[in-house]
Amino acid sequence: MNTFLLIRKLWPFVRNYRGSLILALLLTTIGALLAQVTPLVMEYSVNTVQGLLKRPIDNTEVIRVVGSLVAILLTKELLALLVQLGQKFLSDRIRFRMAADLYDFTISRIASYHLSFFAQDQNQIGKLEKRIDKGIDSLTKTVKNLFVDIAPMVANAAFALVLIYNKNIGVGIVATLVLPVYAYISREQTNRQKQIRRNIQEVRENKANALYGLLESIFVVKSFVRESYEQRRQQVLNLSLCEKEIRHHRTNYWFDGLKSIAEQVGIVLVFVVTIYFVLNRQMTVGAILLHIMLFNNVSAPVRHLHRIYDEYTEALTYAEGFFDMIENNSYLHQRGSLKPTSWTGHFSLQNVDFVYPNGKQALHNVTLDLKPGKVTALVGLSGAGKSSALNLLAGFYNPTRGSVLLDGQPLADYDSELVRENVGLVLQKNHIFAGTIEENIRYGRLEATTEEVIEAARQASLHHQVQQLPKGYQTEARALSGGQQQRIAIARLFLKNPPVLLLDEPTASLDAITAEQIKDSLDAIKQNRTVLIISHNISQIMDADQIYVLQEGEVVGQGTHESLYQSGGLYRDIIDSNARTLNISRLAATVLG
Ligand code: ADP
Repeated sequence: MNTFLLIRKLWPFVRNYRGSLILALLLTTIGALLAQVTPLVMEYSVNTVQGLLKRPIDNTEVIRVVGSLVAILLTKELLALLVQLGQKFLSDRIRFRMAADLYDFTISRIASYHLSFFAQDQNQIGKLEKRIDKGIDSLTKTVKNLFVDIAPMVANAAFALVLIYNKNIGVGIVATLVLPVYAYISREQTNRQKQIRRNIQEVRENKANALYGLLESIFVVKSFVRESYEQRRQQVLNLSLCEKEIRHHRTNYWFDGLKSIAEQVGIVLVFVVTIYFVLNRQMTVGAILLHIMLFNNVSAPVRHLHRIYDEYTEALTYAEGFFDMIENNSYLHQRGSLKPTSWTGHFSLQNVDFVYPNGKQALHNVTLDLKPGKVTALVGLSGAGKSSALNLLAGFYNPTRGSVLLDGQPLADYDSELVRENVGLVLQKNHIFAGTIEENIRYGRLEATTEEVIEAARQASLHHQVQQLPKGYQTEARALSGGQQQRIAIARLFLKNPPVLLLDEPTASLDAITAEQIKDSLDAIKQNRTVLIISHNISQIMDADQIYVLQEGEVVGQGTHESLYQSGGLYRDIIDSNARTLNISRLAATVLG
């Protein structure tokens, strides 16, 4: 990342505030001109006072001269204050509005990324959060630095230099000499700090992520009494950050010292050269004050430059990660152009291999068919690849080899929003958002009425329990039990009422009675829909029109319950083991007998 690139990337966001920027620059110029008034007035004062001393004191003249000088200085200060206020108001406006714009843009980009983006190690939630926060903060700070800090300083220094040159070229050259020395030291400083800063950013992201993980798993941490273990893990990251920060600051102190020496040498040189000209009677005594003050106008900005430069180089580092994140077109969902008005809902996987971004191959040459209007079940042990197959059918990931088809066309050719609108998902982890039960159910169809939300809850066997809660549907959904949260997800599905249902363990965390109620409700809406169900509940499997048995990512059997059971193998083992777990013979004796 370099300055030119940064400005080019920032420009689309800055462009909206062109008017404010031009005004800010105008104020900058006025402010810089005003800053030269004091040295000039001071020179004039010294020379005038010297002139007055040569004659007998005339009180009226003294009052007139001093009065007008005070009036000029006060007016200048007042004007400078107004200009500064204007600049600050404008800069805040640009800065905070731009931060909001950048944030909006980042959210819209990231939300549209393919799931594989979030599966990357460097994009874990905590790390992303830090990158967004730090990125936006340092970028907007840069814009502020550029228009509120650097621009006035540079303008101020430039006007002061012009005045010095105007007075005397020799003094001008001496005053200018210090600038390249200063710039050289600053550049060296930045180059040395670049790598340290990158490391700091990485450790900061890891720290944020580790903290996020710790807080998220606090129950597990406590139940296994792993507080001190976690504390040590945090300590290691903290210590590493600490050392890097100290090294970073220490390097800065050395370089700041060097820059301070360069500045002092500059002042001394200007002082000596001016005194030389004064003693040669080529300048008035007032020139000493004028030159020292003007040189101060040159060196003060330069002195502040390192802070701005520091923040700026920091911004460059963060900008790199930030723009990489928001400009990553390879993760953008390519929305296909196919928008059929009707389809049969015939989903299939054809010879699909699928490897997760971390290299784990979850599916090997899998071919399966979801017949329209029929229920298909996936059976297999944990880790067999059932959820992965479902993720591919839902379009969350793309297959590594082979194809995912809908009505014979690649799924990727369809408009993904249209497909998602028509597919209802209940996943193993049914995420419940921070918000009320009503809001969470309504997520299924945002325009649904309250009555429709209640009806969906009723179908998901949730309504009765919600009624018992003091705040009813306004209860915070995250305060509910796992099973209740799962029913919210199912209610969401009922509300959406899509023609295709992909269900991953829909009744996994429910008690037997609720599971049966949900099964009945699902059975009711399954009619004439394309359904894929993954379940360990054999009653839901047995009823399926077609069953696929998966083992270690491969399809090892396919057929109906009866045919698969007859042919033995894994399916038979699973059913038998289920029967034994249920203690069928005893159950039959008590229930039927
Ligand atoms: P099932 O649903 O049958 O229990 P999955 O489809 O969840 O199995 O997992 C199949 C294999 O893929 C497992 O070995 C699992 O560890 C791996 N896997 C699942 N999700 C991911 C992921 N996000 N990243 C990497 N590997 C994964």
